[in-house]
Amino acid sequence: MKIICIGRNYTDHITELNNERPSEPVVFIKPDSAVLPKEQDFYIPEFTDDVHYEVEVLVKIKKVGKHIKQSFAPSYYDEIGLGIDFTARDLQAKLKEKGLPWEKSKGFDGAAVIGEWVSKTDYDTVNNLSFELKKNNEVVQTGNTSLMLWKIDELIAYVSTFFMLKKGDVLFTGTPAGVGKVVANDYLTGSLEQKELFNLRIK
Ligand code: ZN
Repeated sequence: MKIICIGRNYTDHITELNNERPSEPVVFIKPDSAVLPKEQDFYIPEFTDDVHYEVEVLVKIKKVGKHIKQSFAPSYYDEIGLGIDFTARDLQAKLKEKGLPWEKSKGFDGAAVIGEWVSKTDYDTVNNLSFELKKNNEVVQTGNTSLMLWKIDELIAYVSTFFMLKKGDVLFTGTPAGVGKVVANDYLTGSLEQKELFNLRIK
């Protein structure tokens, strides 16, 4: 499987990182080795002093498709989830400055937290889902999929013009404002529509 991630999909987060508002979605890939194994702690890698959490709504792709029309996109997923796009912000800043690819700062081992999956039929629409991340029991990020610049079905259509989607692929749909640093012993929990879908300890 592959992990396809969207950057800069919420206006408030674009502003907080002083990024330009993109005219097309920003897309990058994490390798399957980036998935943090279930029930494992997240270990801050040695090459960074500034790992940030980014909570994101996830979509699990259920069948092969390319050049998917937006109107057909809903038939490519049944499950919605929540996860973290861990980012070595110090390393990413250096790479961005030099115009180099981000992979090392976002694709390292454990950098993709994937929580439990929920059937999309549990919700009236995937375009109005609230979610939040708590750090040590305090809310640090809140978002709603209604605030995405590009909604889930638009993203599936867009990314499938570049990458063939396959069963089991996971789409990370971007993070709202409030990203921040983790340190050892932090405890993170993520909820979608009030339902906790992951929790993990930082080491
Ligand atoms: Zn992200």
